[in-house]
Amino acid sequence: MKQTILSLLTLAMALTWFQSVAQPQVVAHRGHWRAEGSAQNSIRSLVKADSIGCEATEFDVWMTRDGTVFVNHDPTINGIEIQKSKASEVTRQRLPNGEPIPTLDQLLTAAETLKINLVCELKPHADKQQELQAVRKIIAAVRRHGLEARTSYITFSYPGLRMLIKHAPKGTEVYYLNGELSPATLKGLGAAGLDYNLSVMRRRPEWFTQSRELGLKTNVWTVDAQENMEWFIERGADYITTNEPELLQRLVKR
Ligand code: MG
Repeated sequence: MKQTILSLLTLAMALTWFQSVAQPQVVAHRGHWRAEGSAQNSIRSLVKADSIGCEATEFDVWMTRDGTVFVNHDPTINGIEIQKSKASEVTRQRLPNGEPIPTLDQLLTAAETLKINLVCELKPHADKQQELQAVRKIIAAVRRHGLEARTSYITFSYPGLRMLIKHAPKGTEVYYLNGELSPATLKGLGAAGLDYNLSVMRRRPEWFTQSRELGLKTNVWTVDAQENMEWFIERGADYITTNEPELLQRLVKR
């Protein structure tokens, strides 16, 4: 009896392992912003990504000089540079779908009621003290909203990578976006893995094998063409970040 239970457990674990290797998770890039009424990095794009069953959604964050974290891709919104402005100047700005630009706090409040995982991209701030303050604020906000288990971090900023690894709770996944570091270097830094541009990973397919051997995860961006999606599914990418989540979902299921 004990033997049977053990073999069933082993089988279940093997199946879980196989599925995790074979099936990349779908990460909506800046939310599902091509959906109707949506816009990049809007609350609507987060809700839409969740409603179609994406495993995760990515968004970008900047902090104002007086310490409010906003969700936006570009450093500026309607000509206002977020990192050099006050929150009161930024908060009045609207996204192309008419929504006010969300603060991180507002986005996390919306995420609390959803199931989707969050991939938070820390943007590189010119002032590294400000960036450190942003890291502390982001981590505290995620904790306050009870979303630590559902949130991972990505960044192009090397200092930001080090700060996130140092200050986020143990076990938090932090990934590097700036394609120049090898899996072994990332492992040494304590990163969870790499999240590199598709052209980097097409040139260096061996980084998939090396990452697996080191126990690191792999994510690729921004993969919108079917041919690229199929190529990365075959390579066993753990995550694929895309502006076309519904197409990727169909290919992953197939
Ligand atoms: Mg981003």
